[in-house]
Amino acid sequence: MTHVLDGNAVGDRIRDELSDCIDTLEDAGVTPGLATVLMSDDGASETYVSMKQQACEEIGIESIHHEIDPDAPAAELFDSVDALNDDPAANGILVQMPVPDHVDNREVLRSIDPLKDVDGFHPENVGRLVAGDARFKPCTPHGVQKLLAAADVDTEGKDAVVVGRSDIVGKPMANLLIQKDDGGNATTTVCHSRTDDLAAKTRAADIVIAATGYPELVDGSMISEGATVIDVGVNRVDADNEKGYELVGDVEFESAKEKADVITPVPGGVGPMTITMLLYNTVKAASLQHDVDVSLP
Ligand code: NDP
Repeated sequence: MTHVLDGNAVGDRIRDELSDCIDTLEDAGVTPGLATVLMSDDGASETYVSMKQQACEEIGIESIHHEIDPDAPAAELFDSVDALNDDPAANGILVQMPVPDHVDNREVLRSIDPLKDVDGFHPENVGRLVAGDARFKPCTPHGVQKLLAAADVDTEGKDAVVVGRSDIVGKPMANLLIQKDDGGNATTTVCHSRTDDLAAKTRAADIVIAATGYPELVDGSMISEGATVIDVGVNRVDADNEKGYELVGDVEFESAKEKADVITPVPGGVGPMTITMLLYNTVKAASLQHDVDVSLP
């Protein structure tokens, strides 16, 4: 029987444990706070930000929100980040990407105080992750690690293939998998759009993690019997239903499920874990900034 991993259930379990951490912080007089900065009128970005705010509210993390007109000069965004860097109520700062073309997104990532960088994208935090001394692990790959652990998938000594090499998913995912640490010690191959014979690489893997944004790229013929398949992709494809679209992953679920021992669905797999790990990093940021010990899950 294939184990279809329920990201909502795993996420809820972690959120329960984070609630206890928040109680510990409150006992020490600290209410954790997450600041979101939105410089976009894109509907999807607005939805992501409001989902993050709602998740904070549900668990007892204070939300601070700055909204910048997308046509405003870049300086307005940097002023907002500067103010949040100085605001003790903001333990974590998240600038919703993408920012408009006239704003240099790398400069945005560098402008956030590394101690408040709950996305884990500041070069200092990227460097720490690579060096095996992570402060904030990027939320999506960290969520994948937690899902693998929840399914008792031991990564040690396994052949893992990560399909995708973006800065937010593929690269940090591979970096986590190669660390000499729990959830690491995997022999890891990173594939991308220039990879020759992708199917041969994925077929040789014990663990396949797809993060490409290419709908149903990985099908059952590309998976070995008994593999673990983690689908990070979220793609809207046209469908003959009321909404006119449906969400599919980067994995063709039905055919891959025939082969895999463990697989994540889309939606309901990796997605819920990403926001959970953002809450995790915010709690961690508050505990580091106030020197309060909490037992993070
Ligand atoms: P990017 O577009 O930044 O990166 C995609 C990567 O996939 C690139 O490295 C690209 O290669 C590679 N790729 C694209 N097509 C192919 C192909 N045909 N064969 C092999 N490799 C390919 O995407 P992200 O990493 O930001 O996101 C990936 C997916 O994950 C998206 O569907 C996104 O919506 C989803 N996502 C989901 C999250 C969640 O919480 N569930 C969070 C973040 C992302 P190259 O570098 O050569 O161009």
